[in-house]
Amino acid sequence: MSAQSQEPGTGLVIAVDGTSGSGKSSTSRRVAVRLGLRYLDTGAMYRAVTWWVLKQGIDPTDAAEVAERSVEPEIVSGTDPEAPTIEVDGKDVSVEIRGADVNAAVSPVSAVPDVRARLLLLQRSAISAAVADGVGMVVEGRDIGSVVAPEAQVKVYLSADPSARAARRSAEEGGSDLGRTQESLLNRDRIDSTREASPLVQADGAVHIDTTDLTLEQVVARVVELVEAAR
Ligand code: C5P
Repeated sequence: MSAQSQEPGTGLVIAVDGTSGSGKSSTSRRVAVRLGLRYLDTGAMYRAVTWWVLKQGIDPTDAAEVAERSVEPEIVSGTDPEAPTIEVDGKDVSVEIRGADVNAAVSPVSAVPDVRARLLLLQRSAISAAVADGVGMVVEGRDIGSVVAPEAQVKVYLSADPSARAARRSAEEGGSDLGRTQESLLNRDRIDSTREASPLVQADGAVHIDTTDLTLEQVVARVVELVEAAR
């Protein structure tokens, strides 16, 4: 916990949803560290299933095959916000799941209802454990405030202009081509927002924060303010 830590969250759940590159991960991790909460990156879980699907040579757009086979890998999320991990069958794939191949295939895999149903159970059990332990959790994704944890005490929806999101992602990826990065983000947004199963939406009761012109610290401060107001 940092020097700025506040009292531990007694079962507090914070849902952070939004588009790709809107700052969800950085914001969620910092808020979790500051408030002494656990952190669950549900995007990493969808990426992990996608990485496994590709490794098996399964066509990620073959929804029936993905639905049938995706029950096979064991997915385990480490929820320490200072060092989150994601394992598939005991192997940490934190680096592998950020590759261009996974970026391109993750949205079709995530649109498969059976994949979502399985990960939803894992996500809810991680949240229940955090609440039962009196710690609480920041959970980030696309459907957290709407489907995974509609009971969350604080819900935020982050967005930013596409060019700002592409610039951030490109910097994270060590300077990937801006145009192609923006195209990839917008393509994922389109599939994530238009799919039938749990599309990306601003949940009822979620506070919208446009992060385009805000620093990470300003966004974190805004979320912490919302938490204080909800206590
Ligand atoms: O958050 P991140 O960009 O890593 O998420 C990768 C992909 O995982 C998203 O584009 C989306 O297709 C999927 N996802 C989802 N539901 C979530 C989290 C992520 O469908 N709760």
